[in-house]
Amino acid sequence: MYEREKKNVLDACLWLWDRGFFGTRRGAGGNVSVRIEDVYMAITPSGVPYGELTLEDICILDLEGNEVEVKKGRTPSIEKALHATVYKIRPEITACVHTHQTYASVVSVLEVDIPPLFDEASSELGQMVETIPYALSGSRELAQKVASKIHNGAFAFILQNHGALLLGESIEKALLRAELLEKVAQVFCLALSTGKKIRTL
Ligand SMILES: [Zn+2]
Repeated sequence: MYEREKKNVLDACLWLWDRGFFGTRRGAGGNVSVRIEDVYMAITPSGVPYGELTLEDICILDLEGNEVEVKKGRTPSIEKALHATVYKIRPEITACVHTHQTYASVVSVLEVDIPPLFDEASSELGQMVETIPYALSGSRELAQKVASKIHNGAFAFILQNHGALLLGESIEKALLRAELLEKVAQVFCLALSTGKKIRTL
């Protein structure tokens, strides 16, 4: 069941993994989900290295986190509550990507939000890329902190001392935003490192 959605998750993971968006090649950090209508989501399993991930490993859960279809021996992502929260609060969002991409991670340890720097990026990411305050990975508290921020209508967020969260009306949009965020975060970090005043839009 839900082969198309599982394939969307798997393909997105491999695309991100191949380009270093998860921070390591050998680890299983980060997670990806897509919404299935208004009731379910397809989400990555916990702790499976991306190089070993198959279609059957992708888990189907309802938005309360209950297992609908999970392969024996697999556990859904520890961030399942975070993903479900996004789908409950933002009805237009059908894909959710959490990465450990490098330059967004640099911003995640700075006490600063990313201001609007390029019009192309701002229209995709949101006017400001705001930081969601720190909470332990996989905790209910992290999902609650995400819930309190994503009302702003933006599609990209920094998770403090952790990584990034990208939302999409399609998986393609979420992947594009991961790329755009990395470009903007890189430019922002390099610009900050000059010590000169930054021009914003
Ligand atoms: Zn993470």
